[in-house]
Parts: sequence; structure tokens; C-alpha cells
Amino acid sequence: MSTEQTLLPLAKQAAERAYTPYSKFSVGAAITTKQGDTILGCNVENAAYPVTLCAERNAITTAVVNGARPGDITEVVIFVDTDEVASPCGACRQVMSEFMSQQAKVTSFNGKGQSKTWTVAELLPDSFTLL
Ligand SMILES: [Zn+2]
Repeated sequence: MSTEQTLLPLAKQAAERAYTPYSKFSVGAAITTKQGDTILGCNVENAAYPVTLCAERNAITTAVVNGARPGDITEVVIFVDTDEVASPCGACRQVMSEFMSQQAKVTSFNGKGQSKTWTVAELLPDSFTLL
């Protein structure tokens, strides 16, 4: 079984925990790290919309507090129960580019089990970096 298929049920579980009273657009993410951790994230909305946190950044920032550093996130799997496959937003692409290798995989599944896989470089070519 591919790692995406292994992480998919965890991403679905994370989506069930999303806090989305405003958009009803629940997203779950499951990520892996070089330290061997598997970490879940869900989107967390707020009445002040701009402070809403995406599932992917929620998982990555949790990985950071667990010790992950740039390059340590090895894979991201996203689940959204929609008909179309959702791709990560621009903010998440920038954070992924800081904490993942440019060739690391990001896979997004929809509610029909369909998926798309990109590398980080494909999601955000020529990303901004200070390192
Ligand atoms: Zn995002």
C-alpha cells in the first residue's frame, strides 16, 4: 500500500475534527516527518476570518513544536470531501516549501477517492526563501 493510501484514513479523521462553522469546508491533513512522526491537522476557522488556519499549516506547525525543522516534513496528504480535488492555498504552499524538500510529495484526495499528487516545486516554483 502506498504511503498516500496509508495516510488517507488519518487525513479523513482529521477532517472530521475540523472547526468550520462558517464555510462548512472541512479539510484534514496527515503529514510525516524525518523523525518518524505522523501528525494530523485540520482547518480551524474563526469569526475574524483572516486568522483561520488551514489543515496543512496546522499539521506542519505542530510538527515544528515536536522538533521538525526545514526539510523535515517528508509527505503531506490532504482530504476534502468534495467532488473536485482541492489544491493547497498559496500560504500553505509557501510553508511547505520551507519545511519540505522541493521533491517531496503532496497528495490531495477528494470524497470520491480521486487524487492528485504534486511535488513541492510544482506547487510553488521559485519560492521565497531566506535560508
Ligand atoms: Zn492553506
